[in-house]
Amino acid sequence: MTEKTILVTGISGFIAKHCALDLLQHGYRVRGTVRSLKKAEEVKATLAPHCDITQLEFVEADLMSDKGWDAAMHGIYGVLHLASPFILNEPKDPDELIRPAVDGTLRVLKAAVAANVQRFVQTSSMAAVMYGHPSDRTTPFTEDDWTQLDHPGVSSYARSKTLSERAARDFMAQHNPTMHYASINPGLVLGPLLDRDMGSSAEVIQMFLRGKYPGCAKLSFAVVDVRDVAKMHRLALETSEPTGGRYIAASGAAWFLDMMRPIKARLGAKARKVPSFELPNFLVHLVALFDPTARAILADLGVEVRLDTERTRKALGMEFIGVEESAPAMAQSLVDLGLG
Ligand code: NDP
Repeated sequence: MTEKTILVTGISGFIAKHCALDLLQHGYRVRGTVRSLKKAEEVKATLAPHCDITQLEFVEADLMSDKGWDAAMHGIYGVLHLASPFILNEPKDPDELIRPAVDGTLRVLKAAVAANVQRFVQTSSMAAVMYGHPSDRTTPFTEDDWTQLDHPGVSSYARSKTLSERAARDFMAQHNPTMHYASINPGLVLGPLLDRDMGSSAEVIQMFLRGKYPGCAKLSFAVVDVRDVAKMHRLALETSEPTGGRYIAASGAAWFLDMMRPIKARLGAKARKVPSFELPNFLVHLVALFDPTARAILADLGVEVRLDTERTRKALGMEFIGVEESAPAMAQSLVDLGLG
C-alpha cells in the first residue's frame, strides 16, 4: 500500500473509471472530481464489486470554473487529467468543446503546480496526432506528429484535443515547474464498459450492434483497449522517463471490418445485426448527400492509418491487447449491460 493519493479528473467517465479501478487495485488512494456529487454514488457503486472503495473519495469541480480545484489538489501526489467533453457529432459552436478542453486543462495544471503536485498525466488523443495530414501519406504516425490545425476538415473535437495538449506543453515549457508532465494519446478506446454510463467510443460499437448500418464504411482507426489505457496512465505516473513524454495508446490500426469480425465470432446470435462486409465508397458518398454523419467521414474513406508505436512500447514496457480481444469485449459488455 502506497500513501500516494491521485486526483482523477472526470472520474465519472468511461476511461477514468478504469483508471481509478487500476490505481485502487495497485494500492493508490484516489480522489475523483465530479461536476455533481450525485455522480459520486454511481461511481462508487460501479467500482465497489472490483476493489476496496474505502480508499476512494470525491470532490466537486467543473472545468469551466476555478471553484474547487485548489481544494481538490490538497495532499495530491499526481493528477490524471481525463475530464474533457467528448461527443461524436460536430457541435454548433466549436467552443463547447474547445473552451472546457483548453481553459480547463490550464486551470487544472495551474492548480496542480500551485499545490506542488509531483506528477501530471494529461489524457490527450490520437486526435491531436493524426488529422489534417495528406490522405496519401504513407509514413507511419509516431509520437512526433501533430494534427495540422490549418487543414479545414479538422473536427472541433480534434481541435479541442490538439489545442489543449499544446496549451499544457506550452505552459510547462514557459514555467518550467518541477512537476513531471506526460500525455497519453489513445486511439479509439474499446474494451469492457464497467457500467451503463458508456461514453462516446462505445456508441460507435452500439450503433453496429443495433444494426444502424447495413455495412461498414471503409474507415481505419488507431484502436486500444481501455484496460491498457488505464495501465498506461499509471505507468506514466511511475515512469523514470524524463518529463514531457508523449505516449501513443494504440495496439495498432484497424478497419471497422476488423472490429466487426471478432465481435460476430464471439457474440454469435447476439451480434446478428453486426455487418460482415464493407460498403463501397461510392455508396457512402451517395448517403452523404443527405446524412451529415456520412458527410463527416468522406475525407477519411479508404485512408489506411499507419502507426509506429515502438517508442511508447519500449519506454513504458507496454504489450497491447489486440483488437480481436478489445472489440468483442466492448460489445459483450454492452450486451451484458442491456445496451446491445
Ligand atoms: P466520457 O465522456 O466517458 O468522459 C468524459 C468526462 O469528462 C466525464 O467524466 C465528464 O463529466 C467530464 N467532463 C466533461 N465536461 C466537463 C466539464 N466542463 N467539467 C468537468 N468535467 C467534465 O469520455 P471518455 O472516458 O471516453 O474520455 C475521457 C478522456 O479520454 C477525454 O479527455 C477524451 O478526450 C479522451 N479520449 C477518449 C477516447 C475514446 O475513444 N473514448 C480516445 C482518445 C482520447 P460528466 O460525467 O459530468 O459529464
